Amino acid sequence: MTGESRTSALLPTFARVDLSFERGEGPWLFTPSGERYLDFAAGIAVNSLGHSHPHLVKALQEQAAKLWHVSNLYTIPDGEKLARRLVEATFADTVFFTNSGAEALECAIKTARKYHAANGHPERYRLVTFEGAFHGRTLATIAAGGQKKYLEGFGPKVEGFDQVPFGDHEALKAAIGPETAGILIEPVQGEGGVRAVPPQCLRGLRELCDEHGILLIFDEVQTGVGRSGKLFAHQRVGVTPDIMAVAKGIGGGFPLGACLATFEAGKGMTAGTHGTTYGGNPLAMAAGNAVLDVVLEPGFLDHVERMSLLMKQRLAEMKDKHPAVIAEIRGEGLLLGIRTKCVNTDLVAALRAEKLLSVGAGDNVVRLLPPLIIDEAIVADAMGRLDRACARIEAAQAAAAEGAA
Ligand SMILES: *Cc1c(COP(=O)(O)O)cnc(C)c1O
Repeated sequence: MTGESRTSALLPTFARVDLSFERGEGPWLFTPSGERYLDFAAGIAVNSLGHSHPHLVKALQEQAAKLWHVSNLYTIPDGEKLARRLVEATFADTVFFTNSGAEALECAIKTARKYHAANGHPERYRLVTFEGAFHGRTLATIAAGGQKKYLEGFGPKVEGFDQVPFGDHEALKAAIGPETAGILIEPVQGEGGVRAVPPQCLRGLRELCDEHGILLIFDEVQTGVGRSGKLFAHQRVGVTPDIMAVAKGIGGGFPLGACLATFEAGKGMTAGTHGTTYGGNPLAMAAGNAVLDVVLEPGFLDHVERMSLLMKQRLAEMKDKHPAVIAEIRGEGLLLGIRTKCVNTDLVAALRAEKLLSVGAGDNVVRLLPPLIIDEAIVADAMGRLDRACARIEAAQAAAAEGAA
């Protein structure tokens, strides 16, 4: 709460809004005074099954009564099970569990470097990344993301990342040299403004990696686990990476991430080369397995695709109706972006005034990231709120024009 921010004991690294929630149910969040918000932020693409999903609640409650944590000194049967299921559903042969997206990326970066070291090429440690990327807030992942505002004041940038402009094929080719270990990319940039990499470019990246004997790494932390309408966004295109980082939606709200790799790409990661205390603990594995139970149910991803299509149609109508506010609709599945003609945070605030939660992104975009369990009625409700929020912005624009005249 902003009124209390000066007395807050929290490190003030977040620009929090004056709003808190007490409980959630499906796509709804409730404040302590009982006000209801439609949650199209979903904890930034985390609450993939909404709030208080009965299957997730049951799985965590049952696990909480049995065993929380044991350490990776021991075999964790539910971790074996979740890894097996992820392997069976993807390109991967092997999985490392983490607590967050940034840690999944750290594992991906280390795996790529170690692969070349195991092949006798320790000098191949550099990764090519893309402008507008976001890979996390650890020292290595801010270097990978390359955004000045996240790097400034934190000492020397971690070595080994070469950033090229988004969509610049020549710069990309020029950036690959004898020290390059691989290419790291989000199939759809999330924080960067819901910018999808065209399918032919993903195919081109695969070919380029094969040609140079380097590794293709996908950051599917935001796009993964059904968000794109497929289990993973790259599966739409049929291009497979060698390594992939996952988090956000995979735990449905429980802190969980994973780094997936082929046997070949993971071959340097032998016993003792990497570790984690919490990663893959029984509570997290119960959450992860419960999320997969639902997302892998026949028809679930078809439902996401249907809701995506409906949202895109309705958003296109909103764009036609509010041309002074909405410039463009972007995205895949239920990772949708509205590029605004106003200031994007003004639309986020106007939506919040209409009790619809959304998230800002780069490129003046507002992200709509609803839980994957929304239905037609929820879409209709959300569009009513968007319509009214746009009207608020238009009214403010008209008032400003009047004031200027
Ligand atoms: C959120 C995000 C991360 C970082 O995940 P954390 O859990 O915040 O560490 C990395 N990559 C992408 C694409 C993300 O959206």
